[in-house]
Amino acid sequence: MNFHEYQAKELFAQYGIAVPPGKVANSPDAAVDAAKALGGSQWMVKAQIHAGGRGKSGGVKFCRSFDDVRAAAKGMLGTHMETYQSAGRALPVNLVLVTDATDIARELYLSILVDRDSKAVSFIASKHGGVDIEQVAKETPEDIHTIVVDFVEGLQPYQCRQLGFAMDLNNKQVNQLTKIMLGLYKLFNEQDLALVELNPLAVLEDGNLAALDGKVNSDDNAEYRHPNLAAMRDLTQEDAAEAAAQQSNLNYVTMDGNIGCMVNGAGLAMATMDVIKLAGGEPANFLDVGGGATKERVTEAFKLITSSDKVNCILVNIFGGIVRCDMIAEGIIAAVKEVGLKIPVVVRLQGTNVDQGRELLANSGLAITPADDLNDAAQKAVAAAKA
Ligand code: GDP
Ligand code: MG
Repeated sequence: MNFHEYQAKELFAQYGIAVPPGKVANSPDAAVDAAKALGGSQWMVKAQIHAGGRGKSGGVKFCRSFDDVRAAAKGMLGTHMETYQSAGRALPVNLVLVTDATDIARELYLSILVDRDSKAVSFIASKHGGVDIEQVAKETPEDIHTIVVDFVEGLQPYQCRQLGFAMDLNNKQVNQLTKIMLGLYKLFNEQDLALVELNPLAVLEDGNLAALDGKVNSDDNAEYRHPNLAAMRDLTQEDAAEAAAQQSNLNYVTMDGNIGCMVNGAGLAMATMDVIKLAGGEPANFLDVGGGATKERVTEAFKLITSSDKVNCILVNIFGGIVRCDMIAEGIIAAVKEVGLKIPVVVRLQGTNVDQGRELLANSGLAITPADDLNDAAQKAVAAAKA
């Protein structure tokens, strides 16, 4: 799950990582009050959405008066903002963060993540921050520095110093960086996070380091251990179908195509999407109804898939191992009756009680197209979707 910048900064502050003081506001008046309470003479007003790249989309404004703050907040609140990082979605701006606007000397990049290549937690840093890090990696890869943390020893101060000198920091700044990195490492482990990014981590005019932006992503599998994080969830920022799937314990990811997929098992779901592509089609979603799929879950899954009007055919591919095919067939029939499907459904069943399952579908009186194997199913689904 993702977090807002203001929530990331709350977490940073708890772990001793310097952030400029700030307050969130849900109206232009509240934004002005926040600026007054913060004091000073210049403020940043920042749209709180689950995406970076706000600066380039008008979501980060430098303000020199209360009128500026009011106007900036007014311009952002209540709008939907799309950025180059929002994956084609326009996200609602319900809150703005008002912070002290610090004077920046230099912008750095620092992140901590689970690095699958080294099978360890790693830090990535660059003296070129504030910009798209992928671009830096492409144009000047020598300016990207990685540190792999040994999970037994933990993060060592000498590793932090190495990164600090690679980013041209002086001794005092290197000490601050060390404190920030040790704090980040603790935060990352204690809260079961998957990614934390400080971009920019700024060198301020006074020489001190501070995190001016924060992106945090947590491991959903550990959510049950962190009610504090779960309480920060903002469903307004999430894909509606994916959020609904999460409530029903279904693994669902929205994709761009038009063939809805209902499959049990993540591996089979991936293979099904591959075969759809091979047959010339495009999957509308990834959906794993799980090994212990019940009638209720199958019904929920159908509702989810059909909630998108992009879907014009459904491919069901179920392998009855733990689940029985006849029970799945009953689930499909019940779901189709309840949801009232108006699009073709192609079903491929295999495994335990497959004959009973096929018979139930054939006798259901519903327009369900049976398929013999996965290739056959994919071809029928692609043809139906194109028709
Ligand atoms: P993003 O575009 O969504 O990543 O939003 P950021 O919070 O990273 O802000 C974008 C840019 O605005 C940063 O790279 C900075 O250049 C600038 N910015 C953000 N906070 C401050 C600040 O406190 N002072 C100044 N001078 N610039 C800031
Ligand atoms: Mg940023």
